[in-house]
Amino acid sequence: MSKTKEPGKHATRLSHAGRDPGRFQGFVNTPIYRGSTVLYPTFDSLLADDQEYSYGRLGTPTVRALQDALAEMEGGHATLLTPSGLSAITTTILSFVSAGDHILVSDSVYRPTRRFCDTVLKRLGVTATYYDPVIGGGIAELLEERTKLVFTESPGSQTFEMQDIPAISEVAHAAGAEVIMDNTWATPLYFKPFDHGVDVVVHAATKYIVGHADAMLGVITMNEAAAAPVAKTHDILGLCPGPEDVYLALRGLRTLDVRLQRHQETGLALAEWLAHRPEVSRVIHPARPDHPGHALWQRDFTGASGLFAVVLNPASRQALSAMLDGLSLFGMGYSWGGYESLILPVDPRGYRSATVWESEGPTLRIHAGLEDIEDLKADLEAGFQRLHETG
Ligand SMILES: *Cc1c(COP(=O)(O)O)cnc(C)c1O
Repeated sequence: MSKTKEPGKHATRLSHAGRDPGRFQGFVNTPIYRGSTVLYPTFDSLLADDQEYSYGRLGTPTVRALQDALAEMEGGHATLLTPSGLSAITTTILSFVSAGDHILVSDSVYRPTRRFCDTVLKRLGVTATYYDPVIGGGIAELLEERTKLVFTESPGSQTFEMQDIPAISEVAHAAGAEVIMDNTWATPLYFKPFDHGVDVVVHAATKYIVGHADAMLGVITMNEAAAAPVAKTHDILGLCPGPEDVYLALRGLRTLDVRLQRHQETGLALAEWLAHRPEVSRVIHPARPDHPGHALWQRDFTGASGLFAVVLNPASRQALSAMLDGLSLFGMGYSWGGYESLILPVDPRGYRSATVWESEGPTLRIHAGLEDIEDLKADLEAGFQRLHETG
């Protein structure tokens, strides 16, 4: 089920992308630059604005190092950083829309993306239509003359629908719309959006790129045509992440390949174990052959990260509390992509509008961390025991 990627290629580039020790007295890592003012030596230089760096908000060597590394890993033209994944998303959407425009957004999208569309965008006179994530080329019927962009996220981070990105891109481009993708789940390693027709890729680097649950950061990577409009909006909105957070992402990035291999392996092993548990109705993991989008994952992706879901058989609220409250290795909380395992009850029924989410029982989203697989199984097994005893 898990795939073997091109041997060593990712790993080598992750170790060297965005680094230039010769510029920093030989130190391996680009240091953390803090600063607002950058001095110009002369009036002529100031007038010509002839320096690589001109003001802290507009970039530092630390920021450029991460931007260069991520542009290279993603295969894009240029990368910009923002203080959170959500601000990467909102900045990107704002780069392409004006009052009177229309956008298409996957019904499985990260929920705060949806909230932005339904509040701020709506107030600005931009309408969003939500579409069935598995619509594929059928999205042609929803594209209007005023449709400026199609927002995709594959798989969705709660319900894991796989989207046919090449099919969507083809019809979107034919209609003159940009294709934006939230690629947080796959990371720049396991899906290459630019090879599948995407124009702008966003990431919550907060998740796997930072990888240690210790920083918030967003990433926007553009193809050549989209680079100028996004850079302009990013500049005007005044977005700049903190230097420490950028450094933590650079540090996390170096080990992304090995971490993801382990997340993938443990995630698949847990999914397999869970699939055979009597408490589990079904497992939702795109890298498993029984997933409805498995063929798309197989065709387009080169690996799976450690985030997936299970639907339990019906269980009482008290039984579920007993199961979850007593877990010692799986933490309960938002976010994912760190070294630690997480478990989160999710209920997408309340916010879907284009599709109906149905589940037989409680849905649990699981992030497989880097712990020992047998310890993780034992923690869940004891949880199921409490579920029975309380049920
Ligand atoms: C977490 C997340 C975001 C938002 O990232 P933040 O850094 O928390 O703002 C966006 N998209 C997906 C898929 C996410 O999981």
